[in-house]
Amino acid sequence: MAFERDPDPHGFKRRGVLFVLSSPSGAGKSTIARKLLAAEPKLGMSVSATTRPIRPGETDGKDYHFVHLDKFRQMVSDHEFLEWAHVFDHRYGTPKKPVYDMLESGQDVLFDIDWQGAQQLFQIAGGDVVRVFILPPSMEELRDRLERRATDSQDIIDRRMARAEREVSHWDSYDYVLVNDDVEECFESVRTILAAERLKRSRQTGLIGFVRGLMK
Ligand code: 5GP
Repeated sequence: MAFERDPDPHGFKRRGVLFVLSSPSGAGKSTIARKLLAAEPKLGMSVSATTRPIRPGETDGKDYHFVHLDKFRQMVSDHEFLEWAHVFDHRYGTPKKPVYDMLESGQDVLFDIDWQGAQQLFQIAGGDVVRVFILPPSMEELRDRLERRATDSQDIIDRRMARAEREVSHWDSYDYVLVNDDVEECFESVRTILAAERLKRSRQTGLIGFVRGLMK
């Protein structure tokens, strides 16, 4: 995937950023993703499809595309996903077309996917992916947050905690690892990472023309 875009003050073409945010659930990733999308108009969200039931407060088509297993299987066999994985007892996948459309229209793309998705995307994109992992300050704090959220039963919270420990064990396959002690600070760090990645020389494919002009 190599998409050119033309977003910056000097009009340099550059490749869109595929920006992956992963964390165990409850570590604050959704809040940070929401703040990032609000602050960055040139960043679009990849809305995943999932077979898990909708939770209170979620909107179909915004948080996820909630689909039945048959439909999900059909999407898999029609090659509609960039990547998909089993997470807990359900399936989650990243629809391909919206991602391509966002890149073609000059947006960078934010993915809220797990380590399996991050790995698959990394392979598909030939390594041209920015992977950010958010850690909770402690596992006790994570449990507190999941309990405060009160959308899941105790049994599910226990399973999410076990899953969180497995998720954390993949921290070293990410490019950036942040501890979410303070959501504002963590958000600012994530935003800084995005800004720096946008400016990487390897992404600014149009820079060479500008530099040649300077050296005339
Ligand atoms: P939740 O059910 O709490 O919304 O999400 C559970 C986990 O699934 C989270 O870690 C989330 O990042 C991950 N996830 C959501 N969408 C996708 C996807 O399209 N692909 C993959 N691989 N993981 C996903």
